[in-house]
Amino acid sequence: MSSLMPRLTIEQLNAATPAECVALLDGTYEHSPWIAARAATQRPFKSLAHLKQVLAEVVRHARLDEQLGLIRAHPELAGKAMVSKTLTMESTGEQSRAGLTDCTPAEFAQLQQLNADYNARFGFPFILAVRGPRGQGLGRQEIIATFERRLTAHPEDERAECLRNIHRIAEIRLGDKFGLSPELGHQVWDRAEQLAQHSEPGYAERGELTVTYLTEAHRACAAQLVRWMREDCGFDEVGIDAVGNVVGVYHGTEPQARRLLTGSHFDTVRNGGKYDGRLGILVPMAVVRELHRAGRRLPFGIEVVGFAEEEGQRYKATFIGSSALVGQFEPMWLDQLDAEGIPMRAALAEAGLDVAQIPALARDAARYLGFVEVHIEQGPVLSELDLPLGVVSSINGSVRLMGEVRGQASHAGTTPMGRRRDAAAAVAELLLFVEQRAASVQHVVGTVGMLSVPNGSINVVPGCCRFSLDIRATTDAARDACLADVRRHLDEICAARGLHAQLEETMRAPAAPSDPAWQARWERAVAQLGLPVHTLPSGAGHDAMKLHELLPQAMLFVRGGNGGISHNPLESITSDDAELAVQAFKTLVDQLEREMTP
Ligand SMILES: [Zn+2]
Repeated sequence: MSSLMPRLTIEQLNAATPAECVALLDGTYEHSPWIAARAATQRPFKSLAHLKQVLAEVVRHARLDEQLGLIRAHPELAGKAMVSKTLTMESTGEQSRAGLTDCTPAEFAQLQQLNADYNARFGFPFILAVRGPRGQGLGRQEIIATFERRLTAHPEDERAECLRNIHRIAEIRLGDKFGLSPELGHQVWDRAEQLAQHSEPGYAERGELTVTYLTEAHRACAAQLVRWMREDCGFDEVGIDAVGNVVGVYHGTEPQARRLLTGSHFDTVRNGGKYDGRLGILVPMAVVRELHRAGRRLPFGIEVVGFAEEEGQRYKATFIGSSALVGQFEPMWLDQLDAEGIPMRAALAEAGLDVAQIPALARDAARYLGFVEVHIEQGPVLSELDLPLGVVSSINGSVRLMGEVRGQASHAGTTPMGRRRDAAAAVAELLLFVEQRAASVQHVVGTVGMLSVPNGSINVVPGCCRFSLDIRATTDAARDACLADVRRHLDEICAARGLHAQLEETMRAPAAPSDPAWQARWERAVAQLGLPVHTLPSGAGHDAMKLHELLPQAMLFVRGGNGGISHNPLESITSDDAELAVQAFKTLVDQLEREMTP
């Protein structure tokens, strides 16, 4: 159908009268022309990405009843309107493409029940962009599983999730109207999918993704990355280094020219997502492929590293790949054992890697311009702001401690409330203080993730309580101030309750603020796409945190779907967002070229 219609352009929308603009955008948002009408007042649109963002912002700033009206303007999935063929043209195409018109009687009955339960719980219809994150249509079973999962969501979260799905539906409809398809984004998305075919035994059978350091699945991923870099993307040098990192170099005009270093990790947590780490390898690979196909050489080289290990799953050590590049691979790690008792040294030998070469992997900073890393956000911030990209201002500094409070175990029936030395009640008090203290300062987070009463009994006042403490903040000073308050409060609680406490620090990592010049390059790249620039701190650690010790660094975050969930199979990105990440990376490379051209 769309091929018969003239392709819409941004110039056309900008030149149109307000009424014409609304007409041109007709059908983008189901039965809700008010969205296009309000967006039209904010012209000129700078790009398709800008148009989508303005439309989403109109909805985000609309009144609650308007948002609910928009949701209710949508038909039920496989509902009465589909059966009686009274859907809009757009909805008919989407529902039939997802195979909903070919449901078995059992599937159809299940969907009717889900529709009824969902409506009863939330008071609006279930909205799902059935063409999915790649635009080619979700399967019926995937649709039903998503429906069942979202039925238990918090009502406010679910309303927001419906609106995000409506924006995704609009995004795909606009792609059709403009005749634009995110080819580079599809390429990245498809490669992430192909890499995810390699998973470890015990997980692979359940369709779960687990790739830990130097296992067979891990080595298969490395081999796949090498093949793509060498045979498809046009890198000049490709290899696997002595710790298992995949390294591809695309030479500059001079092969010895200084390089832009980039990359991320390809190992995963157990039952993890397909994009965590991998996106930061696949995006620059797509950029190098474009440069190679255009026969373009830059005044600098591009070195893309697929880091072998970041997550610390198989061995206790973490950031093994990036540590080697900054000369911090610890020889004592080689004696660490995995769950099956295999020392890291043996795993490296088994993979054909020569540990004697690891020290030589340390990079000479003088040969590099800086380090950039693209990563999925792994949080809800960008998704809630309807922004596909964000620029990282700092990777949070962190500190971890293990604590123990000792009191007096005593009879739960005979010890009066005023005479107890209850260690668990003290830690409970501390936990609530951590929650309040962290929340009182922006970008400080505090978590008591482990809490136990060793040898506790139902009829005994807890005499001992052990707990963990994790505090992170954008600056080391903010982190340390929070920790100092927590320590002081613990002392006060113990003094008041007659208890003793111990706190042992087990880990401390400094904050890694982005280099201002590199952060500004990402900001300009995002602005050039016509998108608002949003900066945010990274709550999670990344390879860039290690490279920070050697080179100026800055990161770009890409929005995650399903509320930004990560370290979870529900982690997701759209190919449209992947496309924007590739475009932003290309723009960053172009800027660098201009800066270096006299
Ligand atoms: Zn990661």
